[in-house]
Amino acid sequence: MSLPKIDSDYLVEFLVKLLNLPSPTGFAEEAVAFVEKEFSAFPQLKLTRTRKGALVATWNGKRSDSPRALTAHVDTLGAMVKEIKPNGRLQLSRIGGLILNGVETEGCWVHTSKGERVRGSYMLNMASGHVYGAKVNETTRTEDAMEVRLDARVSNPKEVRDLGIGVGDFVSFDPRVEVTNGFIRSRHLDDKACVAALATAIKALTETGQSPARTVTFLISNYEEVGHGAATGIPSDVHELVTVDMAAVGEGQESDEFHATLCVKDSGGPYHHGLSQKLRALADENQIPYKVDIYPYYGSDGEAFWRAGGDVAVALIGPGIDASHNYERTHLDSLIATTNWVLAYLLSES
Ligand SMILES: [Zn+2]
Repeated sequence: MSLPKIDSDYLVEFLVKLLNLPSPTGFAEEAVAFVEKEFSAFPQLKLTRTRKGALVATWNGKRSDSPRALTAHVDTLGAMVKEIKPNGRLQLSRIGGLILNGVETEGCWVHTSKGERVRGSYMLNMASGHVYGAKVNETTRTEDAMEVRLDARVSNPKEVRDLGIGVGDFVSFDPRVEVTNGFIRSRHLDDKACVAALATAIKALTETGQSPARTVTFLISNYEEVGHGAATGIPSDVHELVTVDMAAVGEGQESDEFHATLCVKDSGGPYHHGLSQKLRALADENQIPYKVDIYPYYGSDGEAFWRAGGDVAVALIGPGIDASHNYERTHLDSLIATTNWVLAYLLSES
């Protein structure tokens, strides 16, 4: 059996649009709504929302016994305004595992509670080389050593509050998306790349008039980066859950930007051996380029569901993302491999 052809232009276009929507955890509605709108182009999908705001798409398969689920998340790292400082700058509180020097000097938006956006950039408090000399390099990057410099004439807390800014406002960092020679460079490829892969797989199957072998639920999760995204939203009768999330690339890792990866163990321990073996066999049968790897500092939405009591086999696959939670990069080859793997799984009979 050959896999349906993937529309890689659609994949990249979907991904670039999604990357450009700010969606720090807790403030991901715009991104969820975008995916909901895109999914509504596939009439066979039954779309619902969880009370938590995640998107659930169900597709009736050729068989309804032993239903399956796949999940990917649209929420990303970001921050909240923690404090308006006496000098009119903002101290932030991180959302998720944000790497502070990864966003140093980055442009950002403060999303006010009135729904407006105020522009700024995230700087070291002592940023000027001509004023602070060697200290600029030597300072350890911590939340209290860094601040948002607003692009507004403000020099005290009152002037900042007059802009509508308050403690608890969400802050999103510019994704800086670039596509060059098949490489996609952006913040938050984790996990928007995998949401794009799921959408592309659904499109490919739809266009060839095929249905998944089993009824399948897609959960587009919105609280993954803080650890409890898929704790709810997966139907309790699901037998298997394939988490589609980034693979960790770096020294000592097998994963790279040109293969998809099967993660067999991360910080939460081993994944389900039987389901992992099944995914390996599907990749072998369909000549999908893949690696097998262990991620040292990593947790997934599949584990969130396990911890919440989900009685289900869980496995994890995804594209290799270089410099994850930092200024990330991957290659189209890795995204195509991931999409094909999802397709092979959706079509698999046993
Ligand atoms: Zn992720």
